[in-house]
Amino acid sequence: MSLSRADVDIILRGYEEDRMDSAREQDRRKAYVYSNVPGYRELSEEIASLSVAYARHALSGSDAPAEPVSERIRALSAKKKALLSEAGLPDDYLDPIYKCGDCHDTGYSNGVKCHCFKKKEMSLQISRLFDQSGIKQSLEEAGFDMVSEKYYSGDDLENFRDSKNKSLSFVKNFNSDYQNLLFYGTVGTGKSLLSSCIAKELIKEGHSVVYFSTIALMDELARNAFDKNDRNSRDCVSSDNPIFDSELLIIDDLGTELTNSFTISSLFNLINERALKKRSVIISTNLSLEELRDRYTDRIFSRLTGGYTFCRMSGPDIRIAHKFDNQIS
Ligand SMILES: [Zn+2]
Repeated sequence: MSLSRADVDIILRGYEEDRMDSAREQDRRKAYVYSNVPGYRELSEEIASLSVAYARHALSGSDAPAEPVSERIRALSAKKKALLSEAGLPDDYLDPIYKCGDCHDTGYSNGVKCHCFKKKEMSLQISRLFDQSGIKQSLEEAGFDMVSEKYYSGDDLENFRDSKNKSLSFVKNFNSDYQNLLFYGTVGTGKSLLSSCIAKELIKEGHSVVYFSTIALMDELARNAFDKNDRNSRDCVSSDNPIFDSELLIIDDLGTELTNSFTISSLFNLINERALKKRSVIISTNLSLEELRDRYTDRIFSRLTGGYTFCRMSGPDIRIAHKFDNQIS
């Protein structure tokens, strides 16, 4: 998805606010130092008048060396830093304060978008996608501590515990290991619930997580392919796309979409590209492994078996059981 002009303005306004905040903070620090560090203001004033003299000298075209003046300015500047240190302040206390030292909070460095700008674009796109996905509500309700075992028994309980442990270790090792998960099993056995629990934990840790139902994902990929052609024809530089570049992509309900050659090749490309970038994916599906292989070709199936940890879920439909519980309580 691409951001609108208004979205880009939001980001640029954010930079403006950052620069204003830091200018205010710098003024506050300067006022503090002027009234609390004796001699500092005088040194600053002396440097200012010497700088004027230095500039005049440079402009006059005089042959006399400017060396003594610049030497003097350097000595006074060192003295200022020493005064700050004596007052227990860091010697860069009055330097400009930037959140991003590479672009000085302008968003651009050497005429191109800074990495911090691209990061802001990505977060804005992700928050737009979250608003569209309708997952916000289920994230509020999710949480590993709220996941109950009471709806499972026997083999179903074993499967559930195994899947929950794999989910917990996915979260625990997310920073160090590249991993993917595939939850499969019949309807209502807790697959989406465990995906939501993982998403919640990782979002809390500040990771970029994107959630899509497969139907919405296919729409987005189709739009994306169209945008890409459009961009190529206009010779534009594309920015990062959360579907391909977010740290985690959750694809819910694989198998509910209309399957055709476009959806299959889009899915293959997506899985492949994310694997090359070592960007994790979680897939949940109501299909059995046999159905998955039959529907999505060996090419996709071998990517899944090679790169995904399989989590089998089974048992009664917990959503119905949960509703029933709520009715009788
Ligand atoms: Zn920057």
